[in-house]
Amino acid sequence: MGTIIGIDLGTTNSVVAYMDHAEPRVIINEQGGRVTPSVVGFSQDGERFVGDIAKRQRLVNPKATVYGIKRFMGRRYQDCRDEAAAVTYEVVEAPNGDCAVRIGGRDYIPQEIAAMILQRLKKSAEDFLGEQVTEAVLTVPAYFTDRQRQATRDAGAIAGLDVLRIINEPTAAALAYLHDRRRPSTIAVYDFGGGTFDISLLRVDRDVAEVLATRGDNSLGGADVDRAVVAWLLERFEDEHGIDASGDPVVMQRLLDAAERAKMELSNVRSTEIHLPFLVTDGDRPRHLQARLDRETFESLTAPIYERTIAECERALADARLDPADLDEVIMVGGSSRIPRVQALVRDLFRKPLNKGFNPDEVVAVGAAIQSGILGGEVKSVTLLDVTNFSLGIEVAGGRSAVLIPKNTTIPAQQHQLVSTVVDNQRTVKIHVLQGEAPLARDNVSLGEFELTGIQPAPRGVPRIQVRFHIDVNGIVHVSARDTRTGAEEAITIDAPSALKRSDIEALRLEPEAPPVDPAARLRDKVEHQLVALETFLREHQPLLHKSAIQDVEQALKRGRMALLKSPERANLETLSRYLARIQQHLEQKTRRAAGGR
Ligand code: AMP
Repeated sequence: MGTIIGIDLGTTNSVVAYMDHAEPRVIINEQGGRVTPSVVGFSQDGERFVGDIAKRQRLVNPKATVYGIKRFMGRRYQDCRDEAAAVTYEVVEAPNGDCAVRIGGRDYIPQEIAAMILQRLKKSAEDFLGEQVTEAVLTVPAYFTDRQRQATRDAGAIAGLDVLRIINEPTAAALAYLHDRRRPSTIAVYDFGGGTFDISLLRVDRDVAEVLATRGDNSLGGADVDRAVVAWLLERFEDEHGIDASGDPVVMQRLLDAAERAKMELSNVRSTEIHLPFLVTDGDRPRHLQARLDRETFESLTAPIYERTIAECERALADARLDPADLDEVIMVGGSSRIPRVQALVRDLFRKPLNKGFNPDEVVAVGAAIQSGILGGEVKSVTLLDVTNFSLGIEVAGGRSAVLIPKNTTIPAQQHQLVSTVVDNQRTVKIHVLQGEAPLARDNVSLGEFELTGIQPAPRGVPRIQVRFHIDVNGIVHVSARDTRTGAEEAITIDAPSALKRSDIEALRLEPEAPPVDPAARLRDKVEHQLVALETFLREHQPLLHKSAIQDVEQALKRGRMALLKSPERANLETLSRYLARIQQHLEQKTRRAAGGR
């Protein structure tokens, strides 16, 4: 059997790991990185780039660069309009009502985009291991719905991966913990990533990991923190210059990048400078953005986001009937768990020092690798007792919802319910499968409907139709119905209403990724980088430079930004790139001399 890889398909970054002689190891990608940005970029002629290259082109080509696709996986367009409006690429409604991404006139379903990322990770693993990889364990947020899990599994299939198991991210983190410690404890896994938040409370023993409760929010993450900072920047910019810059995708992308950078810096320092020269041009006059953001202001802008995570933690404690004092450890997972205010709030709630022994970016992939080791027989088996995160039921008379499997039931789980006909000689019965806790069917999520036909004519209420619910180890729901009176074995199964058909997956299966060959895009990318490098250099070395040198560089930056905006032809870009390289070199010489002469 070949190596089974464990993949954390993250909103912002993805990580792939495997078991090396019963120890988990993170796979290094082509760029030498341990994490791969979950970003897919397209060139004008439809070529695609994944990972770091795509992330870099985001600044220059924001409309054709897809990030955060996980937020749209398996979701209805009408449920994520706000999120669709907030990204710099176009999200549209697919004919089936789900989200789709429109790039250069072509629509891609989110599963396809996710598959491009998975394919890249598969390739990294194959290069690293020197063998073909076809099997994987994938992780999803605990709060992913059935449709989102199906979409993730389909993405794997499109990428040519046989998804052996889907496990919840916090459960994966608990597996990593268990692998390390193997001692009985009750733990909380607080997982705050780029786009989702999950809290899980687990009891781990030597070889059992039991989820006691899990709560979360599929639309809450570091991206919301970035957007709060961008809103503040836009407001300041408008106050100062009277210009609303929010309509331009390139400007928005620069602001988002700067906001994320500032946020990360504020995890280590108390105050940071945000400087975006030539953000917009007003007639012929360039307008710059300059702002200082201190930690207090940052925390007041973003506090409501963190409060929402704490409220979910409190609900999870109530679900599990636990008191914070019952917990032995709190494990912090996800990049956003590095925010100092978040750590303080979590510490205050659980009244425990936080366990920082695991790398928050890698622990989920490590757990997925351990699960693959268990499946492959390389690691001692651990019984995973996960729970459903939603109640499941069917619609009954009066438009009400009858719960068959309540929330927080340990999975795999099964349940039966007998239903019957409502009129005499009724030949078909419609089964409407629902997800959620609301008493009325229409207030819950519809997972799908199907009909059981061929019921023998009989007075109403006589036929006995057994509806069977089964939630498998992956958290995926299967529903079937059988007419017990006739004994007919003809059961109809809706094996995940949102799943793609095998033929759809075959049709979507990806060709190997083309090497990034669009020279113009690469050149634009390079120039953008040179400009950013020059801006940073200027900011950091300003005290060492003469006023005239500073003016020269500012002039060069202005020329560069203008040229990128107005004439991105190849010949001009080449000249510009050479010019910027000269300036940078010159500047470095000057600062070296100035520093040496001190
Ligand atoms: P993940 O989904 O776990 O990869 O988390 C990515 C999110 O974590 C993004 O929103 C990042 O901006 C955020 N992040 C990463 N490092 C830091 C940091 N040092 N401080 C604050 N946020 C961070």
